[in-house]
Amino acid sequence: MAKRKVLDLENREEEYEKSLRPKKLVEYIGQSKIKKNLEVFISASKKRGESLDHTLLFGPPGLGKTTLAFIISNEMEKNLKITSAPMIEKSGDLAALLTNLQEGDILFIDEIHRLSPAIEEILYSAMEDFRLDIIIGSGPSAQTVQIELPSFTLIGATTRAGMLSTPLRERFGIHFRMEFYTVEELSEIVTIASKKLQKEIDGDASIQIGKRSRGTPRIALRFLKRVRDFSDFADEVEINLDRTLEALDALGINEFGFDEMDIKILERLVEARGKAVGLKTLSAILNEDAGTVEEVIEPYLLANGYIERTSRGRVATRKSYEVLKFKTENSLF
Ligand code: ADP
Repeated sequence: MAKRKVLDLENREEEYEKSLRPKKLVEYIGQSKIKKNLEVFISASKKRGESLDHTLLFGPPGLGKTTLAFIISNEMEKNLKITSAPMIEKSGDLAALLTNLQEGDILFIDEIHRLSPAIEEILYSAMEDFRLDIIIGSGPSAQTVQIELPSFTLIGATTRAGMLSTPLRERFGIHFRMEFYTVEELSEIVTIASKKLQKEIDGDASIQIGKRSRGTPRIALRFLKRVRDFSDFADEVEINLDRTLEALDALGINEFGFDEMDIKILERLVEARGKAVGLKTLSAILNEDAGTVEEVIEPYLLANGYIERTSRGRVATRKSYEVLKFKTENSLF
């Protein structure tokens, strides 16, 4: 029952996200380098009547990888099939997915770093030669059966670039690294979403959401949803700055966009007073594996100059000392 409830909530969250997803490249905010390149690659492939080359998207969760896959399929005017690596358990699962594709289809595999080595190997010939090599039986009587596949585009998304094997990475012709969004870009995303939700937000309020969203559209949209609740509760027609600040403060969302993990890291580094703290220590404090700390949690702090990586470990920058001083004086967290 409890599990069911969680699933329902997740589905509703997904529906909400889906309804706010941009459909075309011009509606996709930010990531200008990616957009510019993608426009060229898509248009060139269409002119030649070919599929887009296999594309790999790296980056922390919520930065728009799935959205980009939807946009590519819209722009290419081809079907999109979505799956996630943990759902492909057996080689038969992958074979079923691939043999059901039609010419030019786009297959999106989320969390692609989680494919098992055996499945990855099947993917190599599928990506390279549009051919499926399946081994039937075992031992001396084992036979390889080859199945021709239509040409397709694989879009792989991963939060953990470091966990991807080199042969798999090399089979993607296009590599894009997603960047964190600026406050202005997030504010624009929130403004557009609020119009779609028919509950408009004023400029100062959307900037406040942008500032506190850790450079991540998914977080910004989640905050918009909560702020909208506060505004509806107060029977206001539009979302204003006061209500937004009240909502964000009530939810304990700090001014710098940090989450609990960020604060734990910064506190530990500031306590160390300039001495480097090793990745192992940080991952023990956060109870996360070192790769996740390095590739999912730290990038925001690094990109915004709160921490630095040195050969001996991580150190806090002046900016984080200032933030934490601010924290103790104002107890905002
Ligand atoms: P990821 O696949 O990287 O985890 P998603 O593609 O699911 O992230 O994006 C999360 C949400 O943020 C989606 O609802 C999407 O509408 C929104 N979003 C992400 N990137 C953008 C963007 N560049 N412009 C507008 N909305 C975006």
